[in-house]
Amino acid sequence: MTLDAAELARLDRAHIIHPYLPGSATERIVMTEGAGCRLTDTEGRSYLDATGGLWLAQVGHGRTDLADVAHEQMKKLEYFTSFWDFSNDRAIELAARLAELAPDPLNHVYYTSGGSEGVEAAIKMARYYHHRRGEGSRTWILARSKAYHGVGYGGSSAAGFPLYQEGFAPMVPHVSHLTPPWPYRSELYDGQDPTDFLIRELEERIAEIGPENIAAMVGEPIMGVGGMLVPPADYWPRVREVLDRHGILLIFDEVVTAYGRVGEWFAAQYFETTPDIIVTAKGITSGYVPLGALLVGDHVAEALLREQGFPMGYTYNGHPVATAVALANLDVIEKEGLLARATTIGSFLHAELQSQLGELDVVGEVRSVGMMLAVELVADKATREPLPLDPERMPHDVIRRESGVIVRDSAHSLVLSPPLIMTEAEAKEAASALRSVLERTE
Ligand code: PLP
Repeated sequence: MTLDAAELARLDRAHIIHPYLPGSATERIVMTEGAGCRLTDTEGRSYLDATGGLWLAQVGHGRTDLADVAHEQMKKLEYFTSFWDFSNDRAIELAARLAELAPDPLNHVYYTSGGSEGVEAAIKMARYYHHRRGEGSRTWILARSKAYHGVGYGGSSAAGFPLYQEGFAPMVPHVSHLTPPWPYRSELYDGQDPTDFLIRELEERIAEIGPENIAAMVGEPIMGVGGMLVPPADYWPRVREVLDRHGILLIFDEVVTAYGRVGEWFAAQYFETTPDIIVTAKGITSGYVPLGALLVGDHVAEALLREQGFPMGYTYNGHPVATAVALANLDVIEKEGLLARATTIGSFLHAELQSQLGELDVVGEVRSVGMMLAVELVADKATREPLPLDPERMPHDVIRRESGVIVRDSAHSLVLSPPLIMTEAEAKEAASALRSVLERTE
């Protein structure tokens, strides 16, 4: 069945429930092809993908080497569960590879099909770990405002935006939100050093709830949806030290930051902080097939694997096609030196954004780590008041319409997370597209 562009658009409106926009939202772009950092729609228009899909296309679009691996694996064994008393060769190979890449003692892997499933598994794992160890009172989860942890009930409850909670109540109880690390917004910290303020708040919150009641803290090492918020270098090591003192687990939600995006395999390595559980998804396959993997510390796994084991599993735990593609994707990242490339091309793109946009009135700050970048928009550079945005003319929409460059809007920032293979010419093109719109924005 080959449908033309108009018919595809009509059927899309008639049959797909897209998230976040009303059904009346029209003019949805229908993509049909991708190659490298470029995408093509049904009208034959070309786009520069500066968001890497939803922050995951590490190795770029349209790679036949990954497609061939999926094809071969489907012909050999398309699916058999790695649930209960079976396993499969690809899932085992990938788990061993991830254990090698992750910091010690994260030597165990629990598979999911994506990030939301991963966050649910991590929260349940943390509570279950304490339950198994006879500390069943440890049920509270510490999270942060401006956090995003997917759309399961646990993740939505930990999310730091009312959008994910309003209308969905009752949410999962025993979740407490802390202030996010966002050094540009110094007003959040009463004029104190941001890390000192945040550590004091953490200590006070632990004392209020009682450490014996807290299972874990969950956090994105760099907050993505919140606007690419990069914490000060001493934040995570100091959080880790406080949590350790109180027997509270640390869960890193690295659904965006893992697999090269920050120039390391994991942001845990970038921040020199080893959590007890790392949740990953997205970049593990660069989006070629859905997969997620939790990396779990020896001590947590030991408690979970005792007695009757960990009573939670998914039909697609360790899917052979997904794990085969992940292995091939990790090979590409390694062979093409994409960890180092994330740092070099990320610095180049940062420098381009800074030089092309830095002096514009609406640009408060350009910040980045590796290939996670944000341009924070302000109404006034001195007061740092956020730029009021017109939903009918959001800068990222105008940029896409006028230049074909795809960026996203996240909490008053334009955010970019391009494929790690982006060229310097493409980086310049992305920065120029932002400039041509932002220089006319007031
Ligand atoms: N956690 C974080 C930090 C994310 O950014 C996302 C998705 O963007 C998720 C969890 C949810 O992942 P998924 O959409 O694969 O369920």
